[in-house]
Amino acid sequence: MAVNIGVIGTGNIGQDHIRRITQALSGACVVAVTDIDPARAQKIAKNLGGRAETTGQNLIAAKDVDAVIVTSIGSTHEEFVLAAIAAGKPVFCEKPLATTAVACKRILDAEVALDKRLVQVGFMRRYDAGYRLLKEVVTKGSIGAPLIAHCAHRNPAVGDDYTTDMAITDTVIHEIDTMRWLLDDEYVSAQVLYPKKTSKASKHLADPQIVLLETATGIRIDVEVFVNATYGYDIQCELVGETGVARLPEPSNVLMRSEAKLSVEILTDWKKRFIASYDVELQEWIHSVASDKITGPSSWDGYAAAVTADACVESQKSGKIVEIKLGTRPALYHHVPPPTT
Ligand code: NAP
Repeated sequence: MAVNIGVIGTGNIGQDHIRRITQALSGACVVAVTDIDPARAQKIAKNLGGRAETTGQNLIAAKDVDAVIVTSIGSTHEEFVLAAIAAGKPVFCEKPLATTAVACKRILDAEVALDKRLVQVGFMRRYDAGYRLLKEVVTKGSIGAPLIAHCAHRNPAVGDDYTTDMAITDTVIHEIDTMRWLLDDEYVSAQVLYPKKTSKASKHLADPQIVLLETATGIRIDVEVFVNATYGYDIQCELVGETGVARLPEPSNVLMRSEAKLSVEILTDWKKRFIASYDVELQEWIHSVASDKITGPSSWDGYAAAVTADACVESQKSGKIVEIKLGTRPALYHHVPPPTT
């Protein structure tokens, strides 16, 4: 039986997820939508053959809504995720889980009190084919124990409203989650350094930045975040292990021989870079809702990312190494190790 989904927030990614569920994926349909702008919600509902609810709370309470997708702005996420937990309904929440670590902890506590996983956070890189290959390399021990990771997150340009802390909360947040998952380790400290500033950045923005993370087992991770890199949207990740080195594959593209050059085009749009991973992410979520077993990025992952981001932002201001303390991971989030082959 199809999972009936309600979508809160019909902006960019909300509309994209609705398109995906209705046109590309199987096992679910969108029965209701809502947005702070009722006209926008009405228009989308009409196109869908679904209905528009007046508020997110009403949508969550609706009898025919089995599961909820939250794609409204970040500051509204906590309210809607808590309401979904109170209603006992599975909820897929786009990142961030909430805008503060304290708010993420409130969500964590509500879910732990219920003793059932209902929340999945939209960290879609875990569903990217290249990152999954890299994860397999680590899990199989093909490069021995990982010791160091070098990452880069480069965007061609950002708007004037992009601020120095957004390099962490909007951009590096993806590396923060992905590297915890890849290495199966928690962070213990963070530091942010400022190299020479590019002339392409607006006056108020520090760009590029280098984020240094240290894990509980001693792995060191460096992330270069450079959001006015001009040449393209470029995601790099290299793991150095005891017996080998593994690198994230480049997205596949045509290799051209032309004008005395051998070249491959570099993407410029982040949406294209991870388009397939959004499909896999939501399809797996739909299956997990149907089988009543949520397994994707959890409230604990959303909370750990928020605490780590806070530490990075604190270090941006102080320049110091900031300790990261997550507390004890509740048993609800102890993951089952993948089967060994
Ligand atoms: P967006 O285009 O601004 O869409 C958000 C929508 O939510 C807007 O239509 C907004 O209306 C609406 N909204 C605001 N308050 C609401 C409320 N109380 N109830 C219902 N709707 C409300 O933003 P977006 O780019 O789609 O991003 C949405 C979320 O997804 C953000 O948290 C973002 O970080 C996340 N995101 C994640 C990824 C990823 O890679 N995983 C990618 C993109 C976005 P107004 O415009 O009128 O305020």
